[in-house]
Amino acid sequence: MNVAHEPSAPHPPAAGRTSHRVRAEIDLAALRGNVRALRERAAGAELMAVVKADAYGHGMVPCARAARQAGAAWLGTATPEEALALRAAGDRGRLLCWLWTPGGPWRAAIEADVDVAAGAPWALTEITAAARACGRTARVHLKADTGLGRGGCQPAEWPALVAAARAAEAEGTVRVVGVWSHLACADEPGHPSVAAQLAAFHEALAVAGRAGLEPEVRHLANSPATLTLPEARFDLVRPGLSVYGLSPAPEIGAPEDFGLRPVMTLRAALASVKRVPAGHGVGYGHRYTTPGETTLALVPAGYADGVPRHASGTGPVLVAGKWRTVAGTVAMDQFVVDLGGDAAEAGDEAVLFGPGAAGEPTAEDWARAVGTIPYEIVTRIGARVPRIHLNADM
Ligand SMILES: *Cc1c(COP(=O)(O)O)cnc(C)c1O
Repeated sequence: MNVAHEPSAPHPPAAGRTSHRVRAEIDLAALRGNVRALRERAAGAELMAVVKADAYGHGMVPCARAARQAGAAWLGTATPEEALALRAAGDRGRLLCWLWTPGGPWRAAIEADVDVAAGAPWALTEITAAARACGRTARVHLKADTGLGRGGCQPAEWPALVAAARAAEAEGTVRVVGVWSHLACADEPGHPSVAAQLAAFHEALAVAGRAGLEPEVRHLANSPATLTLPEARFDLVRPGLSVYGLSPAPEIGAPEDFGLRPVMTLRAALASVKRVPAGHGVGYGHRYTTPGETTLALVPAGYADGVPRHASGTGPVLVAGKWRTVAGTVAMDQFVVDLGGDAAEAGDEAVLFGPGAAGEPTAEDWARAVGTIPYEIVTRIGARVPRIHLNADM
């Protein structure tokens, strides 16, 4: 056989081929389907689509719009900057952001009708000052630390925080619309901390109720809890990863078990295909040597694009109809795959990951290959990778 023995000529992009070096296609129809599937699973609880970190790397504004179209009554962000960017893009629905530091843009958030979170007295003090300054009532979600040990108020301080919030309500600067917490081990079904956190959350709600607070929404559930833990749903669930069609952990199940479809497909156009002799070193450090005369293909995506350097020698890629493995080290902008005896040409497509329906690897496969979680695989896709949003209109 050996087509590849033919002298390799430069190939201009064929008709219909994209000129993109690498691109992340974002299927908004899949995202809407995921939101609908999650709403059904939430069984009456409202849904907050978490769109922090540029919608887990998928592009915040188009994803937020699609989530609203599919009935997400709430959006959630980590930072106030993310929430304000959604308002600047025209979003007008309920919107919570929870990751604040002293001196944060409280007043801008309150004026933009963004719900804010407080898990400590300093935050409540800054919120009431900002609300007074602009003559508005801040909508606050009080955060209890029920065992995660990250943000939120410890049980010992909770009665004082609740009392301060009640006093601010009486003054008219604050309305406590939410009481919430976050789970540590919801992705490990049966982990004893889950029941302990549920009990602690019920206790925090009871303390708030006795102090006279009447929150509209009590919320605790992230993706794994939304998918597997009905007793954690309360009035509102806060899925993130599952909105993007990924499963938080193999123990939880596969996306399709829940009617979820991965939203992102990461594709690249091969930048070079060439024959090389046996014993040829490949890439920095020569961590790969061709075992025989072979065909090498160059994938023009590297760690600056979010391809983990830990994928060196392990990352799976679909090229010319088969899974290949990253040969040698992932560089900043590129990596190589060994096609063996198979033929390809420059401009042919490499699919790093996608839904898996066309035989390509998934983000979960990449996570397994590099020893991380699918969250990190999609979130770390670099800023220079264009996000191409498909099916924006229903
Ligand atoms: C990120 C985040 C979520 C969403 O978590 P997933 O596991 O992606 O569903 C929910 N709530 C809070 C507070 C978060 O920070």
